Amino acid sequence: MSQLFTIFGNPVSHSKSPLMHNLTFKGLNHDGVYTRYRLEEGEQLRSKFFELDIKGANITVPHKEYAFEACDELDEFAQKVGAVNTIVKKGEKLYGYNTDAPGFLKAISEFKEIKKVLFLGAGGTAQSTSIILRDAGYAVTILNRSAGRLKRYQKEGFETFTFESFKTDEAFDLVVNMTSAGLEDESLPCPIEILEEIIPKAKACVDVIYGKETPFLKFAKTKNKPTKDGSDMLLYQGVIAFEYFCEKRYSFEEIKEQMQKAFIL
Ligand code: NDP
Repeated sequence: MSQLFTIFGNPVSHSKSPLMHNLTFKGLNHDGVYTRYRLEEGEQLRSKFFELDIKGANITVPHKEYAFEACDELDEFAQKVGAVNTIVKKGEKLYGYNTDAPGFLKAISEFKEIKKVLFLGAGGTAQSTSIILRDAGYAVTILNRSAGRLKRYQKEGFETFTFESFKTDEAFDLVVNMTSAGLEDESLPCPIEILEEIIPKAKACVDVIYGKETPFLKFAKTKNKPTKDGSDMLLYQGVIAFEYFCEKRYSFEEIKEQMQKAFIL
């Protein structure tokens, strides 16, 4: 019988993950099927996993913290950042991983000579990616609309600002929109005066939102900056998740070759 995989989230109807993984199963001739499952109660994640006899799953908004709680064993990095987006069942145990952050790290690796990074936003995605970037040697500063979410970054020793406290004498090599501003609206992630200060000094700008040109990326283009959206991050988190699903049977490049077909259809 085929191994079953799914994405748990709410909503999940828009997710590209089923297409990405099913194309890869087909291309690699691996006997797997990937579905989507709209889960309303995050507490039910673990019982659903066993009930449906799933081999592996991705977990998206709003259940990444529940996914962390649902696991028996956690990868060292997932443990450190407190968020899981990939679970694999081995025997009767659930193993949890975070592939969003390494996916983002890989996605920005094409930009060379980057040292200082400014994150606009301080949500769950910024949390894991800020830590992996720092571990990789980048200096990360966090700028967020509200002060509340900055507390955990301050505890971790990151430099943080709100829009009101932001000082602009520093130059940031890479500016990243880590907010959901621009996802379903046409808003910028911070006041335009701040962007006018920081973008001209930046070497490149990245958005984690994919599949559309956000107001942030449009603004960066008016300043002639190299830009990229969140598609590579999405692709790479999927490739790394697939490596875990198939317990490293295929190489990163083999998986990538198949999975990227989901982005050109
Ligand atoms: P969270 O809900 O955890 O955090 C949202 C963040 O955005 C907060 O910092 C919030 O600020 C800020 N924010 C929201 N709206 C605005 C606004 N209008 N102006 C300024 N700041 C705003 O979200 P996630 O971290 O889970 O997701 C962030 C983004 O990352 C989403 O767009 C998501 O689609 C994308 N993503 C992309 C992935 C990929 O593979 N490409 C993978 C995962 C996520 P405040 O604290 O003030 O509320």
